[in-house]
Amino acid sequence: FRKADILGVRVAALTMGEAVKIAEAFMDSEKPHLIATANAEMIMRATHDTELKEILNTADLVVPDGAGTVWASNYLGVQMPERVAGFDLVQALFANAPAKKRRIFFFGSAPGVAEKAKAKAEKDYLGIQIVGTRDGFFTAEDEAEIIAQIKEAKPDLLLAALGVPKQEKWLKAHMQELNCPLCIGVGGTFDVMAG
Ligand code: UDP
Repeated sequence: FRKADILGVRVAALTMGEAVKIAEAFMDSEKPHLIATANAEMIMRATHDTELKEILNTADLVVPDGAGTVWASNYLGVQMPERVAGFDLVQALFANAPAKKRRIFFFGSAPGVAEKAKAKAEKDYLGIQIVGTRDGFFTAEDEAEIIAQIKEAKPDLLLAALGVPKQEKWLKAHMQELNCPLCIGVGGTFDVMAG
């Protein structure tokens, strides 16, 4: 697939189905991968946050999250087949998870939210394995314990909901050590799932 360069951020022009296939292949692999879901806000932020821009441009996949991203890409002459929202992408991965025996970790959001999102996922996707949860309000001193908790849970899929750009920076800094085959920053996804 082609990539659109939107204000210096390279975003993949692909369908949801293609993004799901790539994400599944990452989870089947041995090495860590990062997927970012780029909406207009994230791209705007990357224009003045060079660390975020670098993370996005070295991520394994950046999908077009949001009508603004799709519009900008089409305007620039790279046809985006459709919007690939982070929320929808992870729901598709959840739907495939029981059959593929995926282990999923929910990290982030206010205390109690990830647990509620876990309960919602277990209700909607029978047999899904959410192997751990942890809220996203922590100090530097808590970090070693959070990393230990995630490593012990051995997830195939780590979802981090710490807001942009904290989630992307946190995942980039720790993904090698965590050795989780797929990490995705998911913003407000747990809040939406928790209702
Ligand atoms: N969040 C968190 N830790 C923080 C800051 C935010 O866990 O230090 C959570 C917040 O509770 C929310 C999620 O990050 O569930 C995404 O926040 P928001 O929707 O404000 O960010 P966006 O996705 O719009 O960047």
